Amino acid sequence: MAVQTVASTTDSVNLGPAAALSCRECGHRVPLGPVFACEECFGPLEIAYDFSGYDTEELRKRIEAGPANIWRYAPLLPVPADVADKPNLNPGWTKLVKADNLARELGVTGGLYVKDDSGNPTHSFKDRVVAQALEAARVFGFTTLSCSSTGNLAGAVGAAAARAGFRSCVFIPHDLEQGKVVMAAVYGGELIGIEGNYDDVNRFCSELIGDPAGEGWGFVNVNLRPYYAEGSKTLAYEIAEQLGWRLPDQIVVPIASGSQLTKIDKGLQELIRLGLVEDRPYKIFGAQAEGCSPVSTAFKAGHDVVRPQKPDTIAKSLAIGNPADGPYVLDIARRTGGAVEDVTDEQIVDAIKLLARTEGIFAETAGGVTVGVTRKLIESGVLDPTKTTVVLNTGDGLKTLDAVAGTGLTATIRPTLDSFREAGLA
Ligand SMILES: *Cc1c(COP(=O)(O)O)cnc(C)c1O
Repeated sequence: MAVQTVASTTDSVNLGPAAALSCRECGHRVPLGPVFACEECFGPLEIAYDFSGYDTEELRKRIEAGPANIWRYAPLLPVPADVADKPNLNPGWTKLVKADNLARELGVTGGLYVKDDSGNPTHSFKDRVVAQALEAARVFGFTTLSCSSTGNLAGAVGAAAARAGFRSCVFIPHDLEQGKVVMAAVYGGELIGIEGNYDDVNRFCSELIGDPAGEGWGFVNVNLRPYYAEGSKTLAYEIAEQLGWRLPDQIVVPIASGSQLTKIDKGLQELIRLGLVEDRPYKIFGAQAEGCSPVSTAFKAGHDVVRPQKPDTIAKSLAIGNPADGPYVLDIARRTGGAVEDVTDEQIVDAIKLLARTEGIFAETAGGVTVGVTRKLIESGVLDPTKTTVVLNTGDGLKTLDAVAGTGLTATIRPTLDSFREAGLA
């Protein structure tokens, strides 16, 4: 696999408490650099930290005194110490909504929360991961930001690059929702539609990285993936802090590549190890759309390998047929006593409407997937309604309006009281 290097990987770089890159498969360690695959076994590299020397109570105070965005967790992230001075969209610290109406509707008595990441600068959770990748790109000397995207990432990269003064060139499947396309294009970067699905786009980007045409480019979810992925840990930190430094019993997470889910688990484990929360069991549940359910299919069949699928679902942001982190998701769901489940497109739409009607939150299709899966897992007795449960909404319904296209005017009337009465609305 091509390994691109701008800054030498042996240069000492300041990446906070990040100590090295470590292979998830064989544990081989290499210095921090813009590399993503193990030179020994081609396994994925991830960040290993040195948290020794942290005093729990001092760390907690430092976090609580920090800014109302992901950088309050800078001591736990691979970022330069002076990040606050650099232009960044500063995402995060989104609302954890106590969803009592939805809880009543679903029969949850143990406390139900929606972590609403539609509140981020480009209205999806992707701003968290891009914020990390951007800082890594600065450190490694890249000047162009790029990515392969199912939609939301393209917008997050375009916006972050605009703010930071980087060039951006992002790649998406050519047939995405209009909301996603406009949201990615408006920031002025280059947006390229590829004739194919996300897996084709991703394969193309891997080739581009190895070619002179892509030299000097920071692909946030390819050669910067180890840094990018760490951004998802902030969801775990925020949920625990917003619950009063407590772990939820159950958490329902959408799966595209599976990266987010694996890093939420990593974040929760770190909080336990650092003594910031009490060590008690938690279960992680993965959510997919039936039309792109390679991980839930493997989970239900008891398999360790994830067989690729050709996606066909309205949940386009989750439509990755060959998810890189699929096997790790299976491990985590099994280790924590969770599960992976999927719902049909019809159930996704019903769930979008249910969340909107009960809590005033308009989710994109990915949020329909998590809420729909939560409902299904409660009905099948897999999810315990007496336990504290957090459901992620990772994106904004305004970007996937077509999913609820049947929704509209109650009535059209003339501007007269008679007409209003005739419509039976009085
Ligand atoms: C990208 C994305 C996810 C999950 O992505 P992973 O690849 O699994 O980390 C979830 N929800 C939305 C809306 C997304 O755009």
